[in-house]
Amino acid sequence: MNKNIYLHNITKKYGTPLYVYDANKIEYQYKLIKQSFSYIENLKINYACKANTNISILKFLKKLGSGLDTVSIQEIEIGLKAGFKPKEIIYTPNSVSLSEIKKAIKAGVRINIDNLSLLEQIGNDNPNYPIGIRINPHILGGGNKKISVGHIDSKFGISYYQLPHIKKIVENTGIKVEGIHMHTGSDILDIGVFLQGADILLNVASFFNELKYIDFGSGFKVPYKKNDTKTDIDMLGVSLKRKFLFFCEKYCKKLKLFFEPGKFLVSESGSFLVKVNVIKHTTSTVFAGVDSGFNHFIRPMFYDSYHHIDNISNPSGILRFYTVVGYICESDTFCVNRKINEIREGDLLCFRNAGAYCFSMSSNYNSRYRPSEVIIYNNKDFLIRKRENLQDLLNNMIEIEL
Ligand SMILES: *Cc1c(COP(=O)(O)O)cnc(C)c1O
Repeated sequence: MNKNIYLHNITKKYGTPLYVYDANKIEYQYKLIKQSFSYIENLKINYACKANTNISILKFLKKLGSGLDTVSIQEIEIGLKAGFKPKEIIYTPNSVSLSEIKKAIKAGVRINIDNLSLLEQIGNDNPNYPIGIRINPHILGGGNKKISVGHIDSKFGISYYQLPHIKKIVENTGIKVEGIHMHTGSDILDIGVFLQGADILLNVASFFNELKYIDFGSGFKVPYKKNDTKTDIDMLGVSLKRKFLFFCEKYCKKLKLFFEPGKFLVSESGSFLVKVNVIKHTTSTVFAGVDSGFNHFIRPMFYDSYHHIDNISNPSGILRFYTVVGYICESDTFCVNRKINEIREGDLLCFRNAGAYCFSMSSNYNSRYRPSEVIIYNNKDFLIRKRENLQDLLNNMIEIEL
């Protein structure tokens, strides 16, 4: 069946606004990374689930062989519920309380610490619990300022200039270091940045003699536009091979290599389907107003992200310029003066690359229900999140008379 007709039928069945994920695409991306690093016996892909935390997606990735990368105790709990074993979950938080880290220790997951003060406190209280250390290599990764986390004044990681201090804390407390980690941002264009980071990370690693893993984080870029660049994962595999195997030889141990991609695994699998409520002509602009807004899909407003928009009700209509906006009572612009096949009221628009950081960043602003989510696998569709109702909005409100 034609893909557009298929998506039309899906919205007839489940309504709009609707997130639709293609599980075959997730599987394809997962295998792509696996193959690019197939020379490493102990490769583990840990899906960064803040990109999309739906438990059915977590279970699907687990079935493919993935581990899980988490940033909060709640993500750990969802991961355990999805069936991941504690040692298959890695927890890399920032600015969380010592008590949350203690809960993670109790759960038995792997932990990456990114702060000297916490390292010392955990070392004092739990010296036998092996931990990883998140290093900030100070390389400039990341497609824009908001998603670049490796620069010198970033709040993430422990600066590699502070290696002497890390070593002193390890010596003083006797804490076991089992891993060295970095994650330098999202949307890294240049694999040279990864390789530069890898050199720094491996150098830091050489100072610790009980390591089990090296964790190169993520930031793999996917194309958002036609002819857009993407991380050449094959090329990265080839370039990293020599460095990593050489290091393991010197270290006299076959270390595990971890990656923790979020976006790379799920972004392109997702489509976000909305209906056009109104067309409005002003003195200078043609607006298409849709049945959604930044409450459901905030990346265009928050990061100035480009998301391709197709009019799947009129795919061969003449091209015209539209500013697509939402129904939120605030500026709510998905795109400005974009060429799209002629849009009519009632048409169905499809935002591409809506699998990562889209639903997971959605809210109930304006007291709107969040969208449903559907996953398609081998041409079969499955509802994986039902639409909310008024009771969901009222659930935790306490009604009192003052
Ligand atoms: C968000 C995050 C990732 C995933 O980043 P992507 O750009 O989605 O691949 C990986 N590791 C950590 C520690 C993160 O916080």
